[in-house]
Amino acid sequence: MTCALHPAIRISEIFGPTIQGEGVLVGLPTVFVRTGGCDYRCSWCDSLHAVDNRFRQEWKMMSPDAVWQKVVALSGGRPMMVSLSGGNPAIQPLGPLIDHGHREGYRFALETQASVARDWFAKLDVLVLSPKPPSSEMTTDWASFQACVEAARHKPQIVLKLVVFDEGDYAYAKDAAARFPQLPVYLQPGNHTPPQPGHEDGFIDMAGIMKRMEWLVERVIRDSWFAARVLPQLHVLLWGNKRGV
Ligand code: SF4
Repeated sequence: MTCALHPAIRISEIFGPTIQGEGVLVGLPTVFVRTGGCDYRCSWCDSLHAVDNRFRQEWKMMSPDAVWQKVVALSGGRPMMVSLSGGNPAIQPLGPLIDHGHREGYRFALETQASVARDWFAKLDVLVLSPKPPSSEMTTDWASFQACVEAARHKPQIVLKLVVFDEGDYAYAKDAAARFPQLPVYLQPGNHTPPQPGHEDGFIDMAGIMKRMEWLVERVIRDSWFAARVLPQLHVLLWGNKRGV
């Protein structure tokens, strides 16, 4: 049941528990709530099934209660981390869901490209801001990024996560870190092989990913950028681009 206070959420998939594969919470058992729809179209998006209209028939409008029942069923009612991802989860009304989960002892992380700020970011436990570098062919609005930081009102832990494919992306990452020196930085080598309709589990260029990882480590060390953490996507190493793990 939805109402003006508890509007429906567009859901692509809810799955888990599995481990968080990337960034500050890597390795932590997590249930994922992936929302449908995104205001970006990154050239290398690895979540097209939650972005592209070709997959829209798979998405469902669900009440916060219905989403919550699914999270509780998956987690066996044991409080744990819930990751809100997408798509861009910031374009969905997630405040009531977070309130509900907090009352039952769960924690919430959200990852967004920081294009849309929401007051309810302040309810989160972890806010991962992942602005998209030049290789994505998107343009960052740093005023929107700043608005996201302000919307969080120092309540959640905020981290900066950057995907790096090449030198241009690396320069962008350094610029982003310089703009927001208060945010811990997580760098991640890019994954070039997005799933396609009918081939959702896709081919993974593992050798390419590992080569970029090595290059990125070497690049950070050469620059004495000792505050940056460099991490691969653990779930991609384990399962490729397979969905729902
Ligand atoms: Fe895909 Fe994220 Fe880019 Fe949206 S912001 S298109 S979900 S990579």
